[in-house]
Amino acid sequence: MSDSVIRFDLPQTDIPTSWYNIQADLPRPLPPVLHPGTHQPIGPADLAPLFPMELIMQEVSQERYIPIPEEVREIYKLWRPTPLMRARRLEKALDTPAHIYYKYEGTSPSGSHKLNTAVPQAYYNKKEGVTGLTTETGAGQWGTALSIACNFFDMECVVYMVKVSFQQKPYRRAIIQSFGADVYASPSDRTQAGRSILEKHPDSTGSLGIAISEAVEAAVTSGGKYKYSLGSVLNHVLMHQTVIGEESLKQMDLAGEYPDVVIGCAGGGSNFGGIALPFVRENLTNDRKTRIIAVEPAACPSLTRGKYAYDFGDAVGMAPMVKMYTLGKDFVPPPLHAGGLRYHGMASVVCELYDQGLIEARAIQQLETFQAGLQFARSEGIVPGPEPTHAIAAVVQEALAAKEANEKRVILFNLSGHGHFDMSAYDAYLSGQLTDYEYPQAEIEAAIAALPQVEL
Ligand SMILES: *Cc1c(COP(=O)(O)O)cnc(C)c1O
Repeated sequence: MSDSVIRFDLPQTDIPTSWYNIQADLPRPLPPVLHPGTHQPIGPADLAPLFPMELIMQEVSQERYIPIPEEVREIYKLWRPTPLMRARRLEKALDTPAHIYYKYEGTSPSGSHKLNTAVPQAYYNKKEGVTGLTTETGAGQWGTALSIACNFFDMECVVYMVKVSFQQKPYRRAIIQSFGADVYASPSDRTQAGRSILEKHPDSTGSLGIAISEAVEAAVTSGGKYKYSLGSVLNHVLMHQTVIGEESLKQMDLAGEYPDVVIGCAGGGSNFGGIALPFVRENLTNDRKTRIIAVEPAACPSLTRGKYAYDFGDAVGMAPMVKMYTLGKDFVPPPLHAGGLRYHGMASVVCELYDQGLIEARAIQQLETFQAGLQFARSEGIVPGPEPTHAIAAVVQEALAAKEANEKRVILFNLSGHGHFDMSAYDAYLSGQLTDYEYPQAEIEAAIAALPQVEL
């Protein structure tokens, strides 16, 4: 392989034919999901008002591989396989012996990895006769992806958008509407959950947890017409994202290298899981020793400072309870510009891997992430989304550590999306308006003390 090759492309025939389900290989099974009212483990029937049966079965499946339906692979062809690039210009800028590779998910029509799961979710709902999907969106990436997917399958799409984003990101809202979806600012007066928040906090700017409550309520009170769709956190979502890591394995092979370190940013854990889980499999079953690092904002440090305990998935306690590293369901994130990294909890799969010592986690301050994001942009020509700048900041740390140790280190990270709809965040950084923020220990302790008491 010539030294100057920087792009490793796969033919369309190499779009994966199955998703990888790490539940088959976990040394210890995932803790059960509990009913929010009874605190008892829930079964498929409890989830039926929310999700189509095929996705419920995927959620609990122990099969190692789940075939990807042909209809879904057909749509994946619009952007998959995504490119894997070697960031030679960034390596040079950092003057590091490390080799830096990135998998670029920003080439999807929605501009991020989220369409990888939006498409199969819409597909399985459509197949089971559901008319439309309700969902929440924070920064707007998930609402965009789901509106595109619903549009492909002729389904309705109802999006509860966190109010502060609704107001600050009119173009994001307009994209979602361009695909025919209905968008409401959350908290709204359309649901009991929204009205109860507005009663207590009329000026609430919303949170992902509140918007989830509204979308869940809108689905379960629709008499089966609508179901609910979640863009991260759940097992089936992380599984759909494994196409990222499976392609990367083949592309690293084309590059003639194998990563020593794999890095992804983690909000709910889906793009991180997407790139990481196939490499975790290789560690567990194929004697590989890749270090795998989840990177989160210091302002929303679920893994690094949260508690591994049962908590509600939403803000009002309607959604099922999941054991996860959590900052508490009442966590209202500080004004942080990586909008996609503001969830109070984390995917169960990622938490279990972390608890079992199979992955590492790291929290990074906002200013360092933007600095790294701009260094990447100026080297490679792509303005990253504010979320993956967290991964990039960790890549820079690793590349500089490799330089310090004078060792060749092969680093792969997931560039989960571009930042073209987040330029107001860059604008704030460039004009010196952004600051670092460390979530106060006292607030974390108070939130953890308020966690629901669960005895199993
Ligand atoms: C939504 C989003 C994230 C965070 O969500 P995860 O489920 O943790 O991946 C990260 N990057 C981008 C570009 C996103 O749109």
